[in-house]
Amino acid sequence: MTIDTRLWSMKIRQLTPYVAGEQPKMADLCKLNTNENPFPPSPKAIEVMKKVLDRADELRLYPEPESDELCQTLANYHGIKREQVFVGNGSDEVLAFIFACFFVKERPLLMPDISYGFYPVYAQTFGVNAQAIPLKSDFTIDVDNYRVPCGGIIFPNPNAPTGVLLDLGSIRKLVKEHPNAVIVIDEAYIDYADDVKNVSAIGLINEFDNVLVVQTFSKSRSLAGLRVGAVFGNPNLITALATYKNSFNSYPIDRLAQAGAVASILDEAYFQDKRQAVIALRNALTTKLTELGFDVLPSSANFVFAKPNHATLTTKMIFDKLREQGILVRHWDKPRIGDYLRITVGTAEQNARLIDGLRQILG
Ligand SMILES: *Cc1c(COP(=O)(O)O)cnc(C)c1O
Repeated sequence: MTIDTRLWSMKIRQLTPYVAGEQPKMADLCKLNTNENPFPPSPKAIEVMKKVLDRADELRLYPEPESDELCQTLANYHGIKREQVFVGNGSDEVLAFIFACFFVKERPLLMPDISYGFYPVYAQTFGVNAQAIPLKSDFTIDVDNYRVPCGGIIFPNPNAPTGVLLDLGSIRKLVKEHPNAVIVIDEAYIDYADDVKNVSAIGLINEFDNVLVVQTFSKSRSLAGLRVGAVFGNPNLITALATYKNSFNSYPIDRLAQAGAVASILDEAYFQDKRQAVIALRNALTTKLTELGFDVLPSSANFVFAKPNHATLTTKMIFDKLREQGILVRHWDKPRIGDYLRITVGTAEQNARLIDGLRQILG
């Protein structure tokens, strides 16, 4: 079907939207392509959301517009203040607001050449001049390469789709060197770093007024379907985000999501248990893939980025053959990363099915 764009504005004609990993409805699918958590959300979060549905008035009324209880719960959890927290409809929405509030500037926004594919899309949506800084050949970020005049810097840590972690000392240095630019650390996967407390940049928000740390409930809290993300930073920055939000949509987080997200944060035992389980599964998967001849980048996330090194089969061919078996992973036909597969860490059963599938394919 061809679309008649006669009535479209120039702006919308020029947009190229982000393409998320596919969500097909095939039977018996082994879905390792969008970094969802292989475990269910906290049973306490489910219970609380069921109670919301059981109370007659809850969905009849609008939700609390600023998600105060959720922000306070996150503040308590991280040992920061309510005024340092902002939440949105998934961290993708939070990131979009960040681009609109802090990156529409004369000077360019710096980001790694290999990172989250949504950043260039936001840049286009909001008219931000983005400049890619190449990762080193081992896929690490060299903060010395960011020593150029800029309007802002953004990168995921651990990086996506590589899983590689940047140390906190380097981040601190970067933040110090750019006091007049907002530095955004997208910690979508930080809970899968072995030593979260010592690698998360959250502590920097008390030291510097130009740091924002973004996190999400979609990965380590198994709530991708609920759509909740958060950002932590100086109240001056947080107030800008609230101003933008209230110029766009007063109620981005519904009642179910606010209640479920709060309950999930309060269930620390479940969170730690599942977090450790995924880390153990990731390490076991890394070992298996290495045994099959893959180069696997050191991952601090719930996925691995791995290069097959097969004599005759290209990575794309391996990707296609896995798909024929109903095993979905992610592949980008792009410079530098075309030889790699990004594989989400699944349950022990899913990971075994992947390894069996690869064994068959690779011979
Ligand atoms: C998954 C992901 C997000 C988006 O998370 P949502 O909260 O589900 O919108 C943001 N950044 C990175 C790097 C991600 O991988």
